[in-house]
Amino acid sequence: MTDAPYSEGTWKGRPNYRCARCPFDSLDQLRIDAHVEEHRTADLVLERRALLRAPAEPPPDALAAQGRRLRQRAGLPEAVTPPEGAAVADAGASASDPAAPHDKEPA
Ligand SMILES: [Zn+2]
Repeated sequence: MTDAPYSEGTWKGRPNYRCARCPFDSLDQLRIDAHVEEHRTADLVLERRALLRAPAEPPPDALAAQGRRLRQRAGLPEAVTPPEGAAVADAGASASDPAAPHDKEPA
């Protein structure tokens, strides 16, 4: 173990345990163990909070901006609504074609 959570010294001939991360020290190894465990718990809580605060996906504004950039790159207009009348004119042309039946008439 290179990264010990506490160091061991002596105090009046007795072993004294000093926290590596703060000024806390104790003559009782159980107490220093409990103390370093508190540091670990605090670390986990901070880590969890940082993860919760981090946005999982970009906000809607960013997505809309990205969509606009992609459309501009593809040469598409800002809005993707089809021009009015285009669909109607297309349907009318294919539904009633008066020229078709005349092909079968005997000459
Ligand atoms: Zn400490």
